[in-house]
Amino acid sequence: MPALTDLNTVREILSRHGFSFSKALGQNFLINPSVCPRMAQLCHPELDGEFAVLEIGPGIGVLTKELAQVAKRVISIELDTRLLPILKETLADYPNVTVINGDAMKLDLAAVLKEHAEGLPVVVCANLPYYITSPLLMRLLESRLPVEAITVLVQKEAAVRLCAQPATRECGAVTLAVRYFAEPEILFSVSRGSFLPAPKVDSSVIRLRLHDKPPCEIADEALFFRLVHAAFGQRRKTLSNSLGAAGYTKEQIITVLQAAELSPTARAEELTLAQFAALTKLFLTI
Ligand code: SAM
Repeated sequence: MPALTDLNTVREILSRHGFSFSKALGQNFLINPSVCPRMAQLCHPELDGEFAVLEIGPGIGVLTKELAQVAKRVISIELDTRLLPILKETLADYPNVTVINGDAMKLDLAAVLKEHAEGLPVVVCANLPYYITSPLLMRLLESRLPVEAITVLVQKEAAVRLCAQPATRECGAVTLAVRYFAEPEILFSVSRGSFLPAPKVDSSVIRLRLHDKPPCEIADEALFFRLVHAAFGQRRKTLSNSLGAAGYTKEQIITVLQAAELSPTARAEELTLAQFAALTKLFLTI
């Protein structure tokens, strides 16, 4: 079969199956031939053929085919039932791929891996639907799936935020959460013209390598996330104002900030992960 990055081939397959793109499902398919092989090579740091890949949203299978050539098993979750007959056709030569019809935000991913990954080390690799980038990454990280690395194509702005250093202007709540679970890096840029249809913005491939052990101890994860969300929810406000959204009085907040040796006029984007961890510990004592 000709390459799934060949425009004529893609258009022929899509029209034969009467497929039209759904904007709501973030359907922008890769047609740049260099992107998928690169993602497939970079998604498995320090692992060779003995690993499984979990892919979210295979589309017509352009990345899936590349993954099937480097991994022992590929498990691809696709929500759009209209793509299933297409995937059956395009992936016919790859018996090591299992396509599961379902919503990656709702499926029990641990059970999926238990059933299909054959006990192999697992990495995630995907061109993510942009409308669920952050919630999906948070779901993958917070559910503590047995995953070594997550390599995903996301919109450039999301890539910058996800890979920002804490205590910088680019930092957001998701930055802190990512840093707690993983070491993120931007691998390479992908122009908007690499997709069909072309989105309005450029993208980047990022990789999160999951920590064996978190970089700092967080006494109560639920409280930590509540504080981070409150602080960044109103990022222009000082912490003494914004942390009220986590359910504390101004007096309590000032006491804790003093104990943490932080100025009451400090803002969320000035704090490191370790400082949020310290705040969590102190709020537990009041
Ligand atoms: N991997 C293909 C490629 O690179 O050309 C398609 C990527 S496209 C950006 C996103 C894919 O995710 C689409 O196939 C879309 O139908 C699928 N999708 C959207 N929401 C999903 C969800 N909640 N769970 C699983 N797949 C989803």
